[in-house]
Amino acid sequence: MYWNPFAEKMSERELQEYQLKKLRQTVEIAYRYSPFYRELYKKENIEPSDIKSLDDITKFPFVKKQDLRDNYPFGLFAIPLSQIVRLHASSGTTGKPTVTGYTEGDLELWTESLTRGLYSAGVRKEDVMQIAYGYGLFTGGLGFHYAGEKIGATVVPISSGNTQRQLDLMRDFGSTVFACTPSYMIYIAEYAEKAGLSIQGDTKLKIGFFGAEPWSEETRKRIEDKTGIEAINVYGTSEIGGPVVTECYAKSGIHFWGDIYIIEIINPETGEQLEPGEKGELVVTVLGKEGMPMIRWRTGDITAMIAEKCECGRAHPRIDRIMGRSDDMFVIRGVNVFPSQVEYALMLLPEVAEHYQIILERDEKGIDSMIVQVEINPDYSKDYSSQDRLRELESRVAEHLRTHLNVRPRVEILEPETLPRFEGKAKRVQDKRRL
Ligand SMILES: [Zn+2]
Repeated sequence: MYWNPFAEKMSERELQEYQLKKLRQTVEIAYRYSPFYRELYKKENIEPSDIKSLDDITKFPFVKKQDLRDNYPFGLFAIPLSQIVRLHASSGTTGKPTVTGYTEGDLELWTESLTRGLYSAGVRKEDVMQIAYGYGLFTGGLGFHYAGEKIGATVVPISSGNTQRQLDLMRDFGSTVFACTPSYMIYIAEYAEKAGLSIQGDTKLKIGFFGAEPWSEETRKRIEDKTGIEAINVYGTSEIGGPVVTECYAKSGIHFWGDIYIIEIINPETGEQLEPGEKGELVVTVLGKEGMPMIRWRTGDITAMIAEKCECGRAHPRIDRIMGRSDDMFVIRGVNVFPSQVEYALMLLPEVAEHYQIILERDEKGIDSMIVQVEINPDYSKDYSSQDRLRELESRVAEHLRTHLNVRPRVEILEPETLPRFEGKAKRVQDKRRL
């Protein structure tokens, strides 16, 4: 059950000793070779030799998205371009894209990390792995590609989109493992149903790896019920390498390999470290990353550390599923709301489907309102065919959301298949207040 038994079976103490040694090396290299880090640390008057214990990591400043934008494209690199063998970049929808450069060693590190994850969740060389993440500058497709090949699985690099073809090849090739965004998996399952196909009955699919957008435990249940597969959570961002970590077969939190990453959870406002179980922003340091060192990278993703040991026995740190992005969070009438909280609350109600959208508006008097549009679950649409029944359901859903969010939205229940579907990342919030 271990891909790399030596690393995966390290005890907590062994991991910490190893982390301290690697942290010193990583900071030393960044300080010596990356002008960005040298300047950052000189400004704070700190040096690599200030690291005496793991706690000393808190003396070093965070690296933020803005640092990458200000130093676009290669300003954080610690190595000349001649030794960089690949570039990836974020889509840059909200500003300049952020660029990551990889040495050969960085690609190996990335592959090692994800390979351990896929293996721990049950992928073996007998598997046929259909990769429906996008290939290209986005890291999803190629990340899974190399990890799947490393295990020796038969990789199908189909990329995202073209749902009919996804289903055809899934059947023809006997795919057993599938990787894509959770919203795309739901779309594929619905598409299959309409075409009179059952993923469970007509394909050999058994495991799916889903990530690149936050999703809830209830969505996991829905995917598993609809398809009969094990739905495994994946995490990563291009800055820390790409999709790098996953849950193991126990599906109870994402293992961050302690010999490759140091993770912290901080209060996004004050920057202070939080205790296990407390929700905050995930900060990642990648040990031994060469091309573009990442030391105390603020991911912007909200989660919590899990203190209890996983049933698989690994002592490597674990995080809860991502609850949202600190910058996706919106404030409505003074209350902080993450879109994933809305999703979680909606999924508890069987009458509504998993397709929803949040609209934020401001009237002439400056008063904000939140509208949640959600499709009715087709199995229930007959029960709510009268306007009265529908209004009653809307007010019940609004009240249910109020108890979960501490703010009462207006709810509009829509007919099945009226909201947009997403083949990549879902866009759930339309904030019309900033016009
Ligand atoms: Zn585990």
